[in-house]
Amino acid sequence: MKLLYTVTLSVAALVASLLAASTGPVVRAQAPGAVKAFTGARVIDGTDRAPIDNATILVRDGRVSAVGPAASVTVPAGAERVSLAGKTVIPGLINAHGHVGNTVGLEQGHYSADNVQHDLRTYAAYGITTVFSLGDDQAAGFAARDSQRTPALDRARLFVAGPVLAPKTVDEARTLVDKDAEMKVDIVKIRVDDNLGTTPKMAPEIYKAVIDQAHKKGLRVAVHLYYLDDAKAVLDAGADFIAHSVRDAAVDEALIGMLKRRNICYCPTLMREVSTFVYESTPAWFSDPLFLKHADAKSLETLKQPARQEQMKNSKSAQRYKAGLEVASRNLKKLSDAGVPIAMGTDTGPPARFQGYFELMELELMAKAGLTPKQVLASATRDAARCMKLDGELGTLEANKWADFVALDADPLANIANVKKISAVYVAGNMVKP
Ligand SMILES: [Zn+2]
Repeated sequence: MKLLYTVTLSVAALVASLLAASTGPVVRAQAPGAVKAFTGARVIDGTDRAPIDNATILVRDGRVSAVGPAASVTVPAGAERVSLAGKTVIPGLINAHGHVGNTVGLEQGHYSADNVQHDLRTYAAYGITTVFSLGDDQAAGFAARDSQRTPALDRARLFVAGPVLAPKTVDEARTLVDKDAEMKVDIVKIRVDDNLGTTPKMAPEIYKAVIDQAHKKGLRVAVHLYYLDDAKAVLDAGADFIAHSVRDAAVDEALIGMLKRRNICYCPTLMREVSTFVYESTPAWFSDPLFLKHADAKSLETLKQPARQEQMKNSKSAQRYKAGLEVASRNLKKLSDAGVPIAMGTDTGPPARFQGYFELMELELMAKAGLTPKQVLASATRDAARCMKLDGELGTLEANKWADFVALDADPLANIANVKKISAVYVAGNMVKP
């Protein structure tokens, strides 16, 4: 055993020196092979297993190597010990529908590597350790995704859809999907919506071509939508992920059947609706220190301006989306009860949709819609990972998965709002800057 350990160490040292020789010293968090032991917490590992009291989580090279009751996990000599006594640990949260890198203050169109990193740090500070960006991703986003499989990571993981495809013809649909495949997107994203009757909607022959071509290329298609009829039509065409709530009507047995037959996931994005009307006045959470820690002060000043608030109050679309939130909440409960897989998502990233904090509020809205804290937590961890095909490495705290987790000061199974009582966030076992 001791010999094996020594051999492993020297192989790791060799790999490290090769890495250092070829690309410089990229690994700064932990020497390869080094072990961290997180002890004393109550661990909700994200599987169906009951919470483990006084648990030990062993982390090696950024991944969980063991997790279980302290009595059953042996901490190797020389391991770095981190006490999490009194804390409740949950898997890092996964946002299945966000956007990254494009917004500064209340303005879009500022995509840059710095903004990508800024956004990923912000998500992580709130315990959102993975974000699936469903569109507007550029080279810096792909580069961030391609460089994150390292034990040194200390920001949220990113997966990308590339541009939101808006082809005008069937030929263009196929060409754009081919380009998506060449740039190695994680999913294809389209919109099938008329923005409350104000813009033309993508025609069925176009989205059918997108979906068909994507499947030929081995890619899945996420669809932005609003209407129940469109949800049925895109599912009929083979869509793989419903990226927003159905908001015009109550979901019915026909839709439930279509979702369940192909195990299609549904992403509620309730906070997206909230963002369309909530600034008609100053939201209570504008005085929450947890929110203020990362919110842009200038944006808040703008959102507090009475003239701007008045404009939102008088906006027809704002008031329709407000009603849409109620429909969406009822639909979420109905779909969850029917056993449709729910992937937590918010559509954060665009202006006034605050990354990180909004995800925590989304969990509360899901609970308010009638889901149990356990269901809500599952939708934001294991189920979101499964829905986005990330469950091989993310979503639960089990051996060989990345050690992404959140230590809380209170148990979220008692009250989901306790996800806001963040003590520390870890990505690949590294503490994230709060
Ligand atoms: Zn979106």
